[in-house]
Amino acid sequence: MEYSEIMVRYGELSTKGRNRQAFIGRLNGNVAKTLHDFPELTIRPKRDRLHIELNGQPSQPVMDRLKMVFGIQSFSPSVAVAKDMDKVYPAVLDLMNATVPQGSTYKVMTKRSDHDFELDTNGMNLAVGDYLDDKRPDLVVKMKQPEYTLRVEVRREAIYLSTETILGAGGLPVGTAGHAAMMLSGGIDSPVAAYLALKRGVDIEMVHFFSPPYTSENALNKAKELTAKLTPYGGRIDFIAVPFAHIQEEIKAKVPEGYLMTVQRRLMLRLTEAIAKQRGDLAIFNGESVGQVASQTLASMAAINDVTTMPIVRPVATMDKVEIIAEAEKIDTYELSIMPFEDCCTIFAPPSPKTQPKIDKARYYETKIDVEGLMAEAMAGLQITSIRPGDEFMKQDEDIIAELL
Ligand code: ATP
Ligand code: MG
Repeated sequence: MEYSEIMVRYGELSTKGRNRQAFIGRLNGNVAKTLHDFPELTIRPKRDRLHIELNGQPSQPVMDRLKMVFGIQSFSPSVAVAKDMDKVYPAVLDLMNATVPQGSTYKVMTKRSDHDFELDTNGMNLAVGDYLDDKRPDLVVKMKQPEYTLRVEVRREAIYLSTETILGAGGLPVGTAGHAAMMLSGGIDSPVAAYLALKRGVDIEMVHFFSPPYTSENALNKAKELTAKLTPYGGRIDFIAVPFAHIQEEIKAKVPEGYLMTVQRRLMLRLTEAIAKQRGDLAIFNGESVGQVASQTLASMAAINDVTTMPIVRPVATMDKVEIIAEAEKIDTYELSIMPFEDCCTIFAPPSPKTQPKIDKARYYETKIDVEGLMAEAMAGLQITSIRPGDEFMKQDEDIIAELL
């Protein structure tokens, strides 16, 4: 038995009356981007459902991707049959035999949008029920909470049958909440923060600071790979690598050790804001968690946040490490995050950063470096990669092993 389409039910968006069209349009685009490497598919967005016609493509790999797309409440792999009961019966039996084990409880539930069809919903329920009673006497009809529901949808073009409903990822379609810049390190926290931003419909681009020759190609690829892991939730994500080594060298040479970290973070935030403004983003997201490390005390956040008035959203701010790790495992970024390729902050981290930096002092020490000149230089060196589901960046096993040894 081969499924002919996957029927997708919309999530939270169905409650948003006026914006419905925009939501459906966005979800349709995101599904198309997520499934970009399945050229056989035809995607048809309708008012109450999205139909993905498989055209011979096996359903499982498509469903694996769909499970991750935000804005989907649930979906069902379905079989399309011509509107002729002589065709419907054998198709019902095939589907039930393939998906419903011996002795299960079930019911038939018909929905009809084509009111010209010979049977109404009741008539269809009875006809199919009688037929199954005959061919599958092992099954038990149960109206309340059966193990299986055979859904029969009579539409203008065909009749659709399904027995399975798979839960979607929920959330809002990525893009319906606007655009933001996400500060992505190679650590555990920021990929989780990025996931949570995507879940609320925020279309993010990744801003990643790297410091060759102090940081390796592997460290950069790890951040790209983390980005690739997050693309199935909404589609494509732009990854913006910002060269940060010269800035760090300058800061190290001219700023007292206690303020190295604060001034570095201020420069990161200044650059992220500049990128965000250039690209029309309305907010910045990061993976800070209150009190986790020296740079994340409230005093520290205040001294860093001082450089911008743009909203900074911190999705994991109040989660503790155990909770963040559990989430990272769930979205499968944890294993990548703990690979020991040092990022720019680890390498220039002072042994004892101030946990209670003063805003005035941070401002003063920052004047010791040429902020504008250094920022212009970094902005001129941005490297932008558009990352899509299925892209891979950590393939050169030999390089990875060499660095780990
Ligand atoms: P993470 O696990 O996300 O790295 P962390 O607990 O290690 O977080 P920090 O290293 O202090 O915390 O970083 C705090 C936040 O600053 C990160 O979550 C991220 O949003 C941002 N950040 C840190 N390093 C980088 C980087 N190299 N590029 C982009 N953003 C960064
Ligand atoms: Mg980190």
